[in-house]
Amino acid sequence: MNSDAEMNTEDGGSSPEEFGEADCFSEEEDEEIVLDTSDNDTSYAKEDKKSENEVLDNDLLEAEMNTTIADVQAVLQVDPGVCRILLHKYKWNKESLLERLYEHPDTIAFLIDAQVIPRQQEVIPAGDAECDICCSMDELSGLSCNHRACAECWQAYLTNKIVSDAQSEIECMAPNCKLLIEDEKVLAYIKDPTIIAKYRKMMVASYIEINALLKWCPGVDCGRTVKVSHGEPRLVVCTCGSRFCFSCGQDWHEPVNCRLLKLWMKKCNDDSETSNWINSNTKECPKCMATIEKNGGCNQITCKNTGCKFQFCWMCLGPWTVHANAWYKCNKFDDEASQTARTAQELYRANLTRYLFYYNRYMGHLQSLRLEGKLNKTVKAKMDQMQNLSMSWIDVQFLRKAVDVLSECRNTLMFTYIFAFYLKRDNNSMIFESNQKDLEMETEQLSGLLERDLENEDLLTLKQKVQDTFRYVEHRRKVLLDHCAEGTEQDIWQYNE
Ligand SMILES: [Zn+2]
Ligand SMILES: [Zn+2]
Ligand SMILES: [Zn+2]
Ligand SMILES: [Zn+2]
Ligand SMILES: [Zn+2]
Ligand SMILES: [Zn+2]
Repeated sequence: MNSDAEMNTEDGGSSPEEFGEADCFSEEEDEEIVLDTSDNDTSYAKEDKKSENEVLDNDLLEAEMNTTIADVQAVLQVDPGVCRILLHKYKWNKESLLERLYEHPDTIAFLIDAQVIPRQQEVIPAGDAECDICCSMDELSGLSCNHRACAECWQAYLTNKIVSDAQSEIECMAPNCKLLIEDEKVLAYIKDPTIIAKYRKMMVASYIEINALLKWCPGVDCGRTVKVSHGEPRLVVCTCGSRFCFSCGQDWHEPVNCRLLKLWMKKCNDDSETSNWINSNTKECPKCMATIEKNGGCNQITCKNTGCKFQFCWMCLGPWTVHANAWYKCNKFDDEASQTARTAQELYRANLTRYLFYYNRYMGHLQSLRLEGKLNKTVKAKMDQMQNLSMSWIDVQFLRKAVDVLSECRNTLMFTYIFAFYLKRDNNSMIFESNQKDLEMETEQLSGLLERDLENEDLLTLKQKVQDTFRYVEHRRKVLLDHCAEGTEQDIWQYNE
């Protein structure tokens, strides 16, 4: 176990001063300037290590798909359309397809087993015959399964499958015939170029959907596809800026896993009426009862009533001053009520209170994340101002980095409350809660610094303060995530579901 993850007593871990000067704003910053990254402290959390992925547009994907088809065709010596269907059946895993092929004594038997060619073929008499579908006398044609129809009926059938059912793998028209129609046949019957274009587009879409190493980017109007080398849950980053979980397509949600996230989302949707009231921007000052509107992300609130000026926590409404104390557990739900509940109603109420506690925290950080979006603007202005006062472009990048770190921490904190909601109470969960509390406290510190203190500081002091703070916050985030990941690896987390 990571030593930093152990129960802390007084001060919530090591102090910011331990994190000395190091050039931290580099990697993903503007391309115009190439910075030397060699002196970076590698102990800081770098998610980008986990996000090594390719981003492809549709043309590239189609080319990649056709290359795979050509590779298989070179071995099988059948139409590319047949190869595409075969590959589709093998989820585009070429290696496993070829492995199975080599295990088979002969190729024809393999193709029959794969149901891409029929078991036997009859001899069909030439000349016109009656079409089973429309009953007109016409020249009939069909597939290798010998199911035949007139060209018009084929065209109508295929058009319907493509346009209405959006299928790119189409079964033979005969009932109970499972033979998939190869592209060459489909395209021979369809003449309309817009339908052909739609069919080609769907082929690529189906290639992406069924391929375990590819995923559509969920970014609005992005349309690109992300490719990874192996398909487990992990952070992927698209060129449009989307950062999402490769496995479930949701926003990256470490430390909670995809399954619990899905359960949580479902629960939130089901309980929407109970949660509406929480998600508001106003609360009353716990001391003077003045209505306070929250317009920044930081949860350390000072009452606007000049006679009061009470400092309190937006999440728990407790006095801010006690939050740093080891005994104060702002992030921890006191579940005594559920342990002492005797009747079903008492238990129901206790469970609901528990859920609302976690939901409140989850939404609180989400709300902060949104409110802190405004910081990009103020920070930009501050950076311009600093550059006018003799600092170089590189010198002022720490501010942007600090805002990025803050939003990463908000994101992580949000998901820690889902994780905590499902976590059973034991020693490990207590360590987790302690890490969560540390990260939360430090994140509020950084948020407060960026929201409040930016104006009144001397530039060099400010730089030092901001850098120390964001590095320390980044460190706390890494400690928490590492502890969670190690726990998952060692299977120590016990969940209630
Ligand atoms: Zn017909
Ligand atoms: Zn058939
Ligand atoms: Zn994208
Ligand atoms: Zn996921
Ligand atoms: Zn007050
Ligand atoms: Zn609190």
